[in-house]
Parts: sequence; structure tokens; C-alpha cells
Amino acid sequence: MIDMMRSAIFCLLFLATNAALALLFPFTLSRFLLTGFIFTAGVAVTLYLLLHPRNQWLVANRSRVENADCVALTFDDGPSPVDTPRLLDLLREKNVKATFFVVGKRADQYPEIVRRAWDEGHLIANHTWSHQHLFCFLTPRRLRAEIELGTESIRRICGFRPRCFRSPVGLRHPLLRLYLKQAGLEYISWSIRTFDTLIENSSILSRRILKRVTGGDIILLHDRLPAGADVMLEALPGIIDELRERGLKFVLAGSREDAGCATLESRPCEPAHSFRRSTKLPISPR
Ligand SMILES: [Zn+2]
Repeated sequence: MIDMMRSAIFCLLFLATNAALALLFPFTLSRFLLTGFIFTAGVAVTLYLLLHPRNQWLVANRSRVENADCVALTFDDGPSPVDTPRLLDLLREKNVKATFFVVGKRADQYPEIVRRAWDEGHLIANHTWSHQHLFCFLTPRRLRAEIELGTESIRRICGFRPRCFRSPVGLRHPLLRLYLKQAGLEYISWSIRTFDTLIENSSILSRRILKRVTGGDIILLHDRLPAGADVMLEALPGIIDELRERGLKFVLAGSREDAGCATLESRPCEPAHSFRRSTKLPISPR
């Protein structure tokens, strides 16, 4: 109930901000200044609620791991047929487990890469079906489909319903809290934004990350970028070594056991541990 009230208050704020433009008429300087103030303040609060990765108003989220001597590496937007296998090789060599927030339709294109990541002990999580950059403006039907089709893709490939979710660019939606609850998903945010999407020099990327990371951080990286993930892949071995030297351990952003518990049916691709049955959620039409 409180959750729905939060969404309703957000929608009212959005409507009131736009309705404030009516105060401009009949036009006077004082009305213009008053409207400008109300509109600017309304837009600023709306954007904060929609865009801030750790804001809890529209969806409860976790941006740290529990143990203070651990950090979690998370990789969004994959799989990439080129860079994700390279990353998996590197992680295997360094004996590091990470969390992959995969885009459902890309996972369907390269299921063997997602399966490999799961089989090698990483966690696979839902990063929506098609990674819509206007995620916060999706219709309710489309929002639900983005979440459920992303989940269904992982279930098809790995045999379990994921328990962790992250939206494109961390964007919020007024109905996100409700739909994630219905889908049994926890929103995982991040505490370290690396800007690996922008930084073109591996030393700069490495310095930026190492300067900021402390125990408990969840680090946001990408294993698929339009220009390739070479810079991140070049920086990562040194980052892993340095963080280990500081006494930090690498953990998953969520539990693989939780993922297993959410599995409905035994499938040939399931990992060694046994899955338990749980409630199956309906898959809505596209
Ligand atoms: Zn993304």
C-alpha cells in the first residue's frame, strides 16, 4: 500500500510540475518567475527520483554487499560474442566470480556464453529484455514484458529464474517496485560508477576505480560496449590484483543458491546443486 502511495505521489508530482505551466497566463513578470521556480524545482525532484541509482523512493534497492571485506564486480549489457568470452577467460585465470546482468534478447543470441558464465560459477541476473533507454517512460504492459521476457530468457538458457535485476542505466519507473515484487526480483544497484563507457585509457580507468573502491562496494562495469570492452579488459587484471592486495575478496552481488531456489523445473543445463520448486509466475504476452 505504501509502495503504491509512493508511486502515486511521484505521478502527482510529475503532473503538478507540468500543470504549473498554466500559471504563466495571463503573463506577468512575477507569474513568469514563480512558474519558473516551481517548474524547475519539480523537474529537478522528478529527475532525481527517476535517475539516481541509489534512490529508494520508486524501488527499494541494494547497492552494497554485506561483508565489509568483500567487493562485487558486476558486468552489464552482455553477452558480447567477442568480449564476454575474453572476460570469462580472465576471471577464470584470476579465480574471480562476478555477476552478469544480461540483456535477454542478446542472451538468446549467444546462449552458450551465458551458460558458460553460469557453469563457471558466476551469477546471471536480469537486465531487461531489450535494454530500452527510455525505460522510465514504458507503458505498464511493456515494462512487465521487459522484466518477464528477460527472466524467461535466463530460465530458458540456464534453467532457473533469476533473483536479481538492474534496469537500463539504472532508470526507475513508477511501477517498477510493484512488478519486481510480483516477479520475485531484487533490484541491485551499484556504489561505484566506473564510467568505463566513456574512459578510453586503461590506466585512467584503473586509477579511478582503485581510488574509490572500499569494502562492501558493488562496482558497475560493462562487458559489451559499442566500441568494444578492450579498455576495461586491459585494466581489470591490475584492479583485481590491487584489490586483493588490500585484503578484499570478490563475491557475487546475489546468491546462486537463491537463483537455484527459484527454479521451477529440473533442466539438463542445471548446475551440480539441486533445485527446489517454487511458484511460477505467468509470462505476459509481448
Ligand atoms: Zn545497461
